[in-house]
Amino acid sequence: MQSAEDIRSQITGELAAFDYTPRTRIVFGEDAVERIGELARELGARRALLVTDKGIVAAGHAGRACGFIAAAGLQIDVFDEVRENPTTVDVARCVEIAERAEADILIGMGGGSSMDTAKGCNFLLTNGGEMKDYWGVGKASKPMLPLIAVPTTSGTGSECQSAALIADEETHQKMACLDPKAAARVAILDPLLTLSQPASVTACTGVDALAHALESAVTRKRNPISAIYSREAFRLCFLSLARVLESPRDVEARSRMQLGAAFAGLAIENSMLGAAHSAANPLTAHHGVVHGQAVGLMLPGVIEFNGLLPEIETVYLDLALHVGLRSVHDLANGVRRVLELAGLAAKLSSFDVTSDGIPALADEAAKQWTAQFNPREIDAADFAKLYEAAL
Ligand SMILES: [Zn+2]
Repeated sequence: MQSAEDIRSQITGELAAFDYTPRTRIVFGEDAVERIGELARELGARRALLVTDKGIVAAGHAGRACGFIAAAGLQIDVFDEVRENPTTVDVARCVEIAERAEADILIGMGGGSSMDTAKGCNFLLTNGGEMKDYWGVGKASKPMLPLIAVPTTSGTGSECQSAALIADEETHQKMACLDPKAAARVAILDPLLTLSQPASVTACTGVDALAHALESAVTRKRNPISAIYSREAFRLCFLSLARVLESPRDVEARSRMQLGAAFAGLAIENSMLGAAHSAANPLTAHHGVVHGQAVGLMLPGVIEFNGLLPEIETVYLDLALHVGLRSVHDLANGVRRVLELAGLAAKLSSFDVTSDGIPALADEAAKQWTAQFNPREIDAADFAKLYEAAL
């Protein structure tokens, strides 16, 4: 095992090449949402469509945003039918409303699903065709409408990413449609908007953000830019999530989580994700395990698996030292403690997963897109061992 001194002596070494363009203006602070009208007008917009869900309407956030947008002299329409894990049908309905409203700017307000629906709508509205035409990277040829992203959870980091995650309505296959043009032009990070989250959403999205920081820190695509975001995202999320869980009204801790989740999104944009997300997706698809819960449950085992590579041990140890931990084992246990505090399950047996079902889950995990970015080569047999250990 390496010591802190070993890590400090390794600040030299080869740096990965990168090509980085900051795409999203980030406006952060309490009551930042009050600037939404002015920001939309600055982008030259006259007719806005707010894409959100009924919960955000009930919390009063959507109405407030509409007031600021109207006060800035813009016409405003609302599509409030966003569902969790949006599908091609949800996107089609949103496109219909956007066309009717003749929207020249889209505003995605809510969790990852609202932002994904707004992004998916933007693809079809401006480039035509179907969602599956854009599955992959850089498939859109025409410019898109400006998008303003206003997250009300601290989790996905979608506000800082160019990917729309849309499921096929029939096959339930999740399609990751990535295009630099789909990235939000502005992300408004107002921590006060996250106070209305139900406790279970705070827990699951917070653990997901922490996992984004830890996975993006070590992927094969990691580079000096992603490392900055991953490290700061980890520091912010690891130290603040426990505080938010214990004191949900702690605005300072909420602010740190909000920023940490956005930084983790920027890290993913530059570095992708790894095996914990690959292992989590089949659990969500076949056992209905909520994304953040599934990722959090698999993450400690993945940290221990990856940490056996000396260069990855170095990265984990560097992160651990930033929060007062001293080994990869401590880091994995730190995640286990956060899960416990969040009231999330640490074992797969809580979700009806049995030994018999593991081979099929492991096969599917090995085929996930993110598995190829995991720093340590990982196959179905390795995933089966990870699932067994988590039973
Ligand atoms: Zn995630």
